[in-house]
Formats: sequence, C-alpha cells, structure tokens
Amino acid sequence: MSISSAFRLEPHEAPVAAAERAKRLIDPGFGRVFTDHMAVIRYSDAEGWHDAHIGPRGALPIDPASSVLHYAQEIFEGLKAYRQADGGTALFRPHANARRFRDSARRLAMPELPEALFVESIERLVAADRDWIPEGEEGALYLRPFMFASEVFLGVKPAAEYLYMVIASSVGAYWKGGARPISVWVSRDFTRAAPGGTGAAKCGGNYAASLIAQKEAIGQGCDQVVFLDAAERRWVEELGGMNLFFVHADGSLVTPPLTGTILPGITRDSLLTLARAEGMAVREEPYAIDAWRADAVSGALTEAFACGTAAVVTAIGTVAGADGRFTVGDGGIGPVTQRLHRALAAIQRGQAPDPHGWVHPLGS
Ligand SMILES: *Cc1c(COP(=O)(O)O)cnc(C)c1O
Repeated sequence: MSISSAFRLEPHEAPVAAAERAKRLIDPGFGRVFTDHMAVIRYSDAEGWHDAHIGPRGALPIDPASSVLHYAQEIFEGLKAYRQADGGTALFRPHANARRFRDSARRLAMPELPEALFVESIERLVAADRDWIPEGEEGALYLRPFMFASEVFLGVKPAAEYLYMVIASSVGAYWKGGARPISVWVSRDFTRAAPGGTGAAKCGGNYAASLIAQKEAIGQGCDQVVFLDAAERRWVEELGGMNLFFVHADGSLVTPPLTGTILPGITRDSLLTLARAEGMAVREEPYAIDAWRADAVSGALTEAFACGTAAVVTAIGTVAGADGRFTVGDGGIGPVTQRLHRALAAIQRGQAPDPHGWVHPLGS
C-alpha cells in the first residue's frame, strides 16, 4: 500500500493544557509521563499493513482471547528524540531500530513492518507531540514502538492479525538521584537467553524471564542483575536490558560478542564505533566472570559500564554474587566511561559533529 499518503492525523480534541504539561515535565523520571498521541498501524494476513494513523493516546479494548495474552507474541523497540543544540529536534539512528524491529519480528514469526513505515510512524508522532520533550540536560522523548498478536484465537500458531503502535514518554534522568555507579548482582540460578532462543530479539518474553533474577538482585541490595551464558554459566552476557563493556588498564575496550544470546544494542554499536574512531583497541570477545573478578582485584581491569538507550552509559562500581563482592577500579565513574558517555551524548544532542550520520533531524 502507498501508506505514506494514507497516514491519517486525528488530533486529540482535548490535549493536556500547556500549564499542566509544564508541571508534568519538571521532574518526569522515566516512563511515567505520556504524551497526547500514539501511532497505530494494523496488520492482517488478508489486508497487509493498513489503517495507519496518529490518534489520541488512550486505552485499548482487548479481547480476552487475543493471542498475545496467551502466547506472548510481542516485540518492541526503544529510541529517543532529542532537542538539538540548534533548536531543532532529532532522532538517533531510527533506521537501526527499524531494522532490529524487523529482525525481532522474523524471530517471533510476526510480519515485518517496512523500515520506511516504522520511521514515518515515529516522525509523525514526534511532530504531533514535540512540545512534550523536556528541557534540560537529560531530557528527551522516549519512543516505544511495539507490536503484538491481536488475533482472537486460542490455537497455537503465528497470529493472522497484529497491532503495531508507538507511544511516547517524556523522560529525564533514568536513575533517580542522577548519575552514580550502580551495583550489579551476578545471577547463578537464572539465565536470560539460551542458544537458539530469543536472546537477540527485543521481545517482552525476554524481560518476563529476567524479572525474577532482577528481583533477586534488588533483594541482595544491588541495582541490576548480570546474566551469564546458559550453557556454561561462565561467560558474562549482559544486564536485563543493557549491554556491558570492560575497560582494561592497557587501554583496551572489551564487550561480549553478538552470538545470538545477546541483544544487539544500538548504543553498544555506537560506542564501539566511537572508540574505534578514537583509536582505542576494541575487542568483541567473551569475558568470563572469574576473569572479571581476578582482573578487578589485580587492577588489570579499571572500569566497567553498562549501556542502552534509556540510561545511555552507566558505570558499574560493585559486583556481587554468591561468592562475595568486588569493586571495579575505585568504585566510581572512570575516565573512559565518562569520556565515551559525553562523546555519545554530545552527538545525540547536536552539540558535536556527527561524522557517522547517526542524527536524523525532524525539521521544525
Ligand atoms: C534494548 C536492550 C538493550 C540496549 O539496546 P539499545 O539499542 O542500546 O537501547 C540491551 N539489552 C537488552 C536486553 C535490551 O532489550
């Protein structure tokens, strides 16, 4: 379908008043302040992609037999629109999210939304809700595209009908109280993804499987859980929703390779590219949990950090597990972590040149 011309705009009849919106944007936190609109595109085997529109954000009537409620055919994405130094608005690498969304769809046996439609749905939603981007250093509009099986049928098979939507959330700093190193708990009992499973797809099911380990981490006084590989319980993979990096005393940067059980983060990819462009020695190679401890204790490892769209870069100060705890470096935010974080954030916000063509301006 020539959906571009078919994208309808149904503006909200009673959007949140400017004064109330300003109040909500003072301290939005993460993921609890939502905008006036949402993007919707329907899919059915019979009609293909259709009924694309931007409409008022609101609750969905959902049939109790909708297959997503039973068999969890659901995928999602996460990206941000940033206010730019020049006053405009821009998305960061939306085509990379579009491609990953297609990859996730394929793994979950769902229809693949064309890349151009994915990007257009986001562009149009941000255009409608641009005023919801908070001012301030960490402010952004977090976009959450997602798709789920909406067919009313209890038989087990890939559904014949889907709903694709994008909602937007005004966000400030991801961590309450501002940037600080986090503590992580190494889960020995639970794994997130196994070879041949859905670890590389961004699907809700991966998160559902990770929550008990995240709960255990909180119970141990830690902020986040670290997952090891499912086969050997030896190799460090990632957090529940962020990729991991290690900085060594020899100046090299290491991150686990994408072997199918790790989510291919766009922040991960961007940091690898920035570090290589800086001339850093960068390696995508397995890193064992025992090596993490030994290297941190000996001083061969100086920094570790996690990364993802929501929090961008977060230093890891302490690592705890069944066999005790250790500190990385001096437990603070290390210089390489800080430098890479600043370099990426400056590009995202149009405060630095964009040599890799990552910034996708939206016009004003
Ligand atoms: C989304 C996600 C990431 C980070 O990906 P970005 O594209 O950098 O936001 C890392 N791990 C998991 C499990 C994720 O779902």
